Amino acid sequence: MKIKAQIAMVMNLDKCIGCHTCSILCKNVWTNRRGAEYMYFNNVETKPGIGYPKQWENQEKWKGGWELRDGKLGLKTGGMTTRLAKLFYHPQQPEMDDYYEPWTYDYETLIHGKRRNHQPVARPRSLITQKRMEIKWGPNWEDDLADGASARKDYNLAKIGQEITLEFHDIFMKHLPRLCNHCLNPACVAACPSGAIYKRDEDGVVLISQDGCRGWRHCVPSCPYKKIYYNWETNKAEKCTFCFPRLENGLPTVCSDGCVGRMRYIGVLLYDADKVKSAASTPDPKDIYKAYLSALCDPNDPAVVKAAKEAGIPDRWMRAAQNSPAHKLIAEWQLAFPLHPEYRTLPNVWYVPPLSPIARRVEEKVFFPGAAEMRIPVAYLAQLLTAGDEAAIERVLHVLLELRAVMRAKQTGDALPANLTHDVETYEA
Ligand code: SF4
Ligand code: SF4
Repeated sequence: MKIKAQIAMVMNLDKCIGCHTCSILCKNVWTNRRGAEYMYFNNVETKPGIGYPKQWENQEKWKGGWELRDGKLGLKTGGMTTRLAKLFYHPQQPEMDDYYEPWTYDYETLIHGKRRNHQPVARPRSLITQKRMEIKWGPNWEDDLADGASARKDYNLAKIGQEITLEFHDIFMKHLPRLCNHCLNPACVAACPSGAIYKRDEDGVVLISQDGCRGWRHCVPSCPYKKIYYNWETNKAEKCTFCFPRLENGLPTVCSDGCVGRMRYIGVLLYDADKVKSAASTPDPKDIYKAYLSALCDPNDPAVVKAAKEAGIPDRWMRAAQNSPAHKLIAEWQLAFPLHPEYRTLPNVWYVPPLSPIARRVEEKVFFPGAAEMRIPVAYLAQLLTAGDEAAIERVLHVLLELRAVMRAKQTGDALPANLTHDVETYEA
C-alpha cells in the first residue's frame, strides 16, 4: 500500500444557484490580466448546453496529445520516438471562437449615450478588435437564451438520444460549476513534452511551471475537461492552481470561500497510489467509478494510519482526512460522483447529483417514484457522472429524497417516516 494525500472538492449540485460569484472571484484573483481575458479557471455552465469551450465534452472533436499505455496516460507518440512525436504531432487546438471573444461594454455610450426607445443602448465591444459586436455565443449563453436548439447540441443529451421539445413541461435546467479536477491520472501531465506540468506530492495539486513551459500547447486539447488555457501574451499555458497559496495558509479556495449557495466542500482524501493504474484502465467505463472508490482508503483504518505515517503524511493532513466532508460524501456515503469518469483521468472534483422536481404526483410516502418521474432524466445525469450507470444515480437520488423527508420531519417535529429503505439516520447533516 502506497498512501498519498489528495485535496478534493465535492459540489452539491442542488445548491448551486448559478450566480457566477465563484467565476468572478476566481477571474479577479487569477486571470484579470492581459493575455488571460478569455480564461475562466472556474466557470459555471448551464446544462443542458454547449459548455465552455464549446462542445468540450465531444472527445471525437479534440485530438488530445496523450494515449493510454499500460493503464497510464502518456504523451501520444503514434509509434514515433518521443522526440519526433514532440515535433510532428499536432493536436487539434480550440480556437478563440470556441471560448467566445472577450468583450466589455462601451461604457461611454452606456452612460452618456442618447436616450432611445429601448434601454440599455450600449452594445458590447470586443476587447480584441475593439469593434462593436453582436454576441452570438458566450460561455453562459444557455443561461439567458437557452432554447431547444442549444439543448439539442448538448453532447450528453445527444448520446442518450433524448428529444428536447419546446413544450414547457419537458424543459429542465441545472448548473454545473467546473474547474480543473487535479486528477490522479492527469492527461495534461502526460501530454506535456517539456515536463512542465506536475502533480504536487504533498496534496496532489496539479501545477504548470511557468519557467518550464515552452508553449507546446499539447496540454490544451489533451485535458479532456479543457481546463488548460494558453496565454497569448506570455506564450505559456495556465490553469487553476486550487488556490495553493491559500491552501498552504489554511484557507479554502476563493470559489469555495465566496460560494453563495455554500455548495462546495473541500477535504482531504487518502488513496493507494498502487491502485491508480488499474482503476484508470478498468476495461468497462461503467466500472471505473467503483474501481476509483476501491483506490480510496479509510483514514480511520489503523493499517492505513500506519502506512500513511510510513509514507510521511503529516499528522495535520491525517486529521484533515479523518474529519473530511469530502471523504464522507465520496467514500463513506458514496453520494458524489466524478465528472465523466470514462475519461480515465480519475478527477478530484466530485458532484452530488441534483434532485429534480418529480414530474407527476405519485402516491404519498413513496420516496423515489422511479427514474421516469424525475424531471431531469436519470439517463442524462448518468451520461455526465457515471459513464451511463443509471442504477448508481438512482440509488443516490433515492437516498437524498429519504434524507430530505427525515430532515423535514425533524424540523417540523412530525414523526419520522417509517418506510425508509436506506439507513439515512447514519448520514450526518
Ligand atoms: Fe490536467 Fe485537465 Fe485533469 Fe486538470 S482536469 S489535472 S488540466 S487533465
Ligand atoms: Fe453556484 Fe456557488 Fe458559483 Fe454561485 S458561487 S454559481 S452558487 S458554485
